[in-house]
Amino acid sequence: MGRIEHFELCEYQAEQHIEPDCYLLVAGGELLSLSSGELALLTRDEFEVVQDRLQIRHGPAYVGIANQRHPCQLVVLEQPVELANTLWQPPRAVLPHLTAAEYTLVSRGLQLGVWARDHAYCGSCGAKTVLHGKERAMHCEACNKFYFPRINPCVITIVTKGEYCLLAHHTRYATDFYSTLAGFIEAGETIEDAVHREIFEEVGIRVTNLHYFGSQSWPFPGQLMVGFMAEHAEGDICIDGDEIDDARWFHYSELPQVPGTVSISGQLIQHFVDRCQQS
Ligand SMILES: [Zn+2]
Repeated sequence: MGRIEHFELCEYQAEQHIEPDCYLLVAGGELLSLSSGELALLTRDEFEVVQDRLQIRHGPAYVGIANQRHPCQLVVLEQPVELANTLWQPPRAVLPHLTAAEYTLVSRGLQLGVWARDHAYCGSCGAKTVLHGKERAMHCEACNKFYFPRINPCVITIVTKGEYCLLAHHTRYATDFYSTLAGFIEAGETIEDAVHREIFEEVGIRVTNLHYFGSQSWPFPGQLMVGFMAEHAEGDICIDGDEIDDARWFHYSELPQVPGTVSISGQLIQHFVDRCQQS
């Protein structure tokens, strides 16, 4: 099939009547890939040959249509199995090699894998759940509860001051990477509340002029990143020291090592640089 340049998520009920012809394999949070780093999708023939060797936890379950004519299924394995000419890699290693369409497929596949693992039993009564026939949900027949794939919304913001932007070094990064500020939206908050709170908590400043930038599904393990641009309003940087161990204003022409544009953080930074260069 070659690279996937177009990927369409399809409605759950419709998916169940389609014959698949390619398979995305996930095991223990890792993806099957080629040695070049590209995604390895098995054809139906390839899948049928190895099927008996696979300990399948979930699936085959539809994830969508690749290149407008290849129905694609997700297969979640109990553990990685050695398969010819392929290797298992953490998704972050595969990410830079993916097309935008492959990213959509992988993001959906990984999140469904986590969902199938985490909802094998009912969180309310403890009974084993089953995949529901009409909804993409794990269903507890004992107490009639539905468990849909869980998506956790997060805000991610680039704060700017003229030709400078605020980037932070997170304590969880082992490298010199600096990134935009991000955090989960808490229960009861609006998206805007979360932007203001998160920035104040992490770096002690107030922001103004929030503008929506765009969003990105981020499957580590199931975030929906909602991106904003904001301007500095008042306050000096005062880091929390907990999540962040350094934060500074960087001129657009002298940025530190920043995330690639595969992530919305990298896209926000690139957008800011482009805007400065044009003005
Ligand atoms: Zn139950």
